Amino acid sequence: MERLQDQIRDLKQQRNAAVVAHYYQTSDVKEVADYVGDSLAMAQWAQKCTADVLVVAGVRFMAETAAVLVPNVKVLSPDPDATCSLAEGCPADEFGKFIEQHPNRVVVTYVNSSVEVKALSDITCTSSNALKVINSIPVDKEIIFAPDRNMGKWLQKITGRNITLWDATCEVHDAFSVDQVRGLKAANPMARIIAHPECTPELLRIADFIGSTSALLNYVSKEYSGTYIVVTEEGILKEMRQAAPHAKLIPAPTDEPNTCACGICPYMKMITLEKIKASLETLTHRIVIPELLRERAALPINKMMAL
Ligand code: SF4
Repeated sequence: MERLQDQIRDLKQQRNAAVVAHYYQTSDVKEVADYVGDSLAMAQWAQKCTADVLVVAGVRFMAETAAVLVPNVKVLSPDPDATCSLAEGCPADEFGKFIEQHPNRVVVTYVNSSVEVKALSDITCTSSNALKVINSIPVDKEIIFAPDRNMGKWLQKITGRNITLWDATCEVHDAFSVDQVRGLKAANPMARIIAHPECTPELLRIADFIGSTSALLNYVSKEYSGTYIVVTEEGILKEMRQAAPHAKLIPAPTDEPNTCACGICPYMKMITLEKIKASLETLTHRIVIPELLRERAALPINKMMAL
């Protein structure tokens, strides 16, 4: 592993390349990254990227967002098949028809969506700024929120806004078991349940704190110690352990032993050191977005970035 990491570091120098990674990547991948963050922070970092080549160690929509923001940089995805159940659950043609059925509404799209869906939107958001984005829309305006049904319901609840929802979910966060989390809480009564807003409404109802991956990390970081039942993808536990080494972190279990058991995103884990190395060697797979589509998708993304 260390040899592979050294080879990647050498290739980065040769290519004047940078690697940006999501928190949900494996530790070996995060160790070769120039920056690790959530999707908003990754996009903000990409926007300032001065490298010639940017490898996005994350799922495809993250690489697409970077390619929209920095068209002069060669943006590479080590595995363009690394998708996301939310992006897959919202095909652009169907979404276009959905919008037509609900005219005059402000279309807010979670960044976990394809570039084609973003191009149909008025503004994008991430889990870090979704509340800010919704609150930036005049109160007399009705809103469409896509694709995450769970996050949309959470936003409806905390803002009281009239929001029409698209019906897709994150297959990782949607699978966390309310009963098992309740059981963990009964066994650890002092533990605080911290959950990502992509979790089901039933789970969010019993959470002590709800926030984006970064917000959950910040919440744990403030504590010298404490016990947390962490209801999000397990990749963030590494940063949480570093930030709060004396805290007890209990990963939440899922309902069934499926591909997402134990809160692991199978798509994020498709990115490996071997694929990053191959990407840098061959400069593949470049994310190329037709210019008109890129310009249209840049509007809602830049609107979000300006907030
Ligand atoms: S954790 Fe969920 S939302 Fe994030 S990339 Fe995986 S499937 Fe998509």
